[in-house]
Order: sequence, then structure tokens, then C-alpha cells
Amino acid sequence: MQRRHFLWTPPALALGAAASPVLAAPSIISSQSPILPRKGKGPRIVICGGGWGGMTAARYLRELIPNSDVVLLERNATFWSGPMSNKWLVDIVGTDFVNRDMLHPANQYGYTLLQTEVNGFERDKKLVRTAHGLIEYDFLILSGGIRNDYEAWFGNDQRAIEYTRTHFPNAYIPNQEMLSLKQKVKNFKGGTLVMTLPPPPHRCPPSPYERACLIAWHIKKNKIPGKIVILDPKPKIAPIGVGYQQAFEELYADIITHVPNAGVKEVDPFNKQIKTAAGDFKFDDAILMPPHQAADMVWKADLIGKDPATGKPTGWADMHNRLFHAKSDDRVYFVGDLMGAISPQFGHYPKSGHVANYIGKIVAQNIAERVAGKEVVARLPDNLCYMMVNGEPQEEISVKFEYEVDASGQVNQTQIDMDVRTPDLVKEDFDWINGKFRDFLGT
Ligand SMILES: Cc1cc2nc3c(=O)[nH]c(=O)nc-3n(C[C@H](O)[C@H](O)[C@H](O)COP(=O)(O)OP(=O)(O)OC[C@H]3O[C@@H](n4cnc5c(N)ncnc54)[C@H](O)[C@@H]3O)c2cc1C
Repeated sequence: MQRRHFLWTPPALALGAAASPVLAAPSIISSQSPILPRKGKGPRIVICGGGWGGMTAARYLRELIPNSDVVLLERNATFWSGPMSNKWLVDIVGTDFVNRDMLHPANQYGYTLLQTEVNGFERDKKLVRTAHGLIEYDFLILSGGIRNDYEAWFGNDQRAIEYTRTHFPNAYIPNQEMLSLKQKVKNFKGGTLVMTLPPPPHRCPPSPYERACLIAWHIKKNKIPGKIVILDPKPKIAPIGVGYQQAFEELYADIITHVPNAGVKEVDPFNKQIKTAAGDFKFDDAILMPPHQAADMVWKADLIGKDPATGKPTGWADMHNRLFHAKSDDRVYFVGDLMGAISPQFGHYPKSGHVANYIGKIVAQNIAERVAGKEVVARLPDNLCYMMVNGEPQEEISVKFEYEVDASGQVNQTQIDMDVRTPDLVKEDFDWINGKFRDFLGT
């Protein structure tokens, strides 16, 4: 499928050239006039969010459009990774697998990295509002990942939200919260540890079960008198349901209880109680995951989709399902977990680092085609996730998703579960992560 877009034309007024690829915070801040002078005469592409998707887009934009002025805006000082983080929680891998320097790739690929908070947008003027001031763009990429929708549980009760976030962190948004969770696992001396799973679509569907397996392995290895109760809103484990069920029964029968159809109705974090559709539960400790939604930046850009039947927000970006730009603004692209639904057959692409990396590349190609005045080619990703279920011996299961377009133009998904746990998949997993890190973190 191909589609022609408006051509990109150079801005009439470029503000001059800047020298350094990596930018320190400017010392004089004006909220009125744009900061960051343009570099060169090429298009300015601003990427909001320097995770798996945003860093990939930054690299490939610089390579595909050599005169482009690519600016990556990220709130964290360093890169944090979700993939491998469950293994890191129980010391199977070191910190290098979850936390990396971001200046190195910015220098290697030649984009500008600004550590700042993205606060909003003036899309009519093609401006991003940041904590450091306004930044102009010709194309904008939103790649901010997800937000935790604690409001679905607590409404506007900020005390309950803050208490839950600080006492029962889930670390599904990779940042310093991962350190708190690791500390929690280390300090767990026994009792019932409850894990709530969000309803679909959510970030990395198989990974909460991997986390349960690896914490159970840690409990078993250290002879901790603890149990894990997984409160799952789904009727059965998915994906790789058979592989996980076997791991739960064969490796952790005395430790893991999986409760299906356990959609959360009420959470009382202060008294450690949860009411679900499958009954009420008390806990000694917990990893509490509320529903996921697109990152705040998509809401601030006023680009959240609406359910055609109810008119209510879908919670995810309102986008062209093959070309990844906003339906109402083709200068704005979406990359990664914040993306909206793709197909009536399967809903969303899996919210995975693999897909975020793939779409980051595709969006860079699409913008490069537009800048060159070429037809834009609609491309498809694939997906691959490896999940460790046993720490000794190390064994993994995996799931692969393939996509194709049918005669009516609908994208269809084929899912291939590898349910038999093997050490071979562990090797593939490490090859996969090293390859991906090389791809967007540089060499
Ligand atoms: C425990 C766990 C295990 C996982 N395992 C796997 C796996 O094995 N394989 C796999 O493929 N995927 C896995 N994932 C999923 C993967 O982490 C995500 O799908 C991936 O990170 C999505 O990339 P992204 O770029 O959309 O978001 P992110 O990587 O989260 O990047 C978003 C970035 O935007 C920044 N940001 C957000 N808002 C702002 C703002 N307002 N201003 C400035 N910066 C902002 C954030 O700080 C962040 O750095 C796992 C995730 C978790 C939590």
C-alpha cells in the first residue's frame, strides 16, 4: 500500500547553526521565543521520549536524512530498559542490561539530546513546550511510552495514588522505580505477595508472568516462606499460556497461584486489601499494576482516540494504522507503546521493545521518503519476545507474531507460541538484546 503526502519544504526562517550534538540545559530560559537554534538547512525533527522507540527513530533519521536536525527530548538522565529488567530484579543480569548512557549514541549518530520534561504542544505553530522553553519542529514524533492509570482505581485521591506508587511500585515505566522494586524483592522475607495485572492492551503482555516466575525462583532458591498470587483480569494466561501454566505447575506449584477473571474492583493500599471479580484478597506485600494508557504527552497534544460507539477516550493515540501519523495532523508521528489500535482482528501491536524499535525505523523511513518527495511505503513490523521461566538451569519460552495485509487492506496477526522451555532460547534472547542495544545505543 502506498500513499502520497504533502512534501516537506525547508523553513523560510532558519535560526542559524549550532555546533554541539549534545546539549546542556540553556542558561537563559524564555517561555516566549524558541530555544535551540536550527542546525543546517534540513528538516527539524523533534522526538519526545528517548526510550526504545525514540532512540531508534533518532538514529535512523540521522542516517536516512543526513542534513536533518534531529532533537531528542528525554526527562531521564540515562536510558532505562524494560526488557531484561525481570532478570535484573533477581540478579541474573547486571545493571548494564537495564541502565545505559545516552550521550554516547547522541554523539555517535549526531543528534541533539536535551534532558527536559515535555510539557505540551502548540501544534498550530509547530512548537513543543518543554521545561527549558519552546522548541520548533517540522515533524514531531511522540514516543513517550505509557502512563499508569491509577485514576481508574482511586479517582482523584492523590494520597492513595502516591501511597500505592511509593509502597507497591510496579516499575512498568522504566526509571528509578526499578531500584525500589529490586529492593522490595531483596527485602521480601515471606507471606503473600500479590501481583495485579492490567487489563489488555498493556505493556509487554507476557512479562508479568515472567516476573512472577523469576521472583518465585528467587523465593525457592532462598527458601523464603513466601507465596505469589497473580490477579489476572483475563480468563486465561496469554500469550504462551501453555508454557507458563507448565512452569507454574512443574516449577512453582507451592509458590504461584494464578487467579483468572480477577479484574480489580477496589484497592485499599493502606489496609492491604483488594476486591476483584474473582473474590477478595489480603496481602503482606504487593506489586500493583493499574491499567495502562498512552503517555501524558499524547493527551497534552490532544491526539487521543475516541471510541466511535461511546465517544469516550480510547486511552491511546488516534493514528493512521499503516503510516503511524496522527489522523488529524500528518506532521505528528507515533512510535512505540503509546500507539493506538491497528486492526479489528488483533487490536494493538504488542506493546514491546521489539515493536517500538521496528516502528522507530519505519517512521524514520516514512519521514525520509516524504522529505525526498517520494511515495511513502506502508511497512509492517514483526514481534518477538523471550521470557525466562527458570533461573537454574536457565530456561526460556518465547512468542513470535507475524503480520500481513489481506485483500481488504486489514492487517492480520499470526501468533506462534514456543511453550517448551529450553536453554537454547536463553542464548537467542541474549543475542536479541545485544543486537537491539547495538542498533540504537551504538557501539
Ligand atoms: C518488566 C518488563 C519486561 C519487558 N520485557 C520485554 C521483552 O522481553 N521484550 C520486549 O520487546 N519488550 C519488553 N518490554 C516492553 C518494553 O519495555 C516497551 O515495550 C518499550 O520500552 C516501549 O518503548 P517506548 O519507546 O514506547 O517506551 P519507553 O521505552 O518507555 O520510552 C519512553 C520514554 O519517554 C520518556 N518520557 C515520557 N514522558 C516524557 C515527558 N513528558 N518528557 C520527557 N520524556 C518523557 C520516558 O522517560 C522514557 O524514557 C518489557 C517491559 C517491562 C516493564
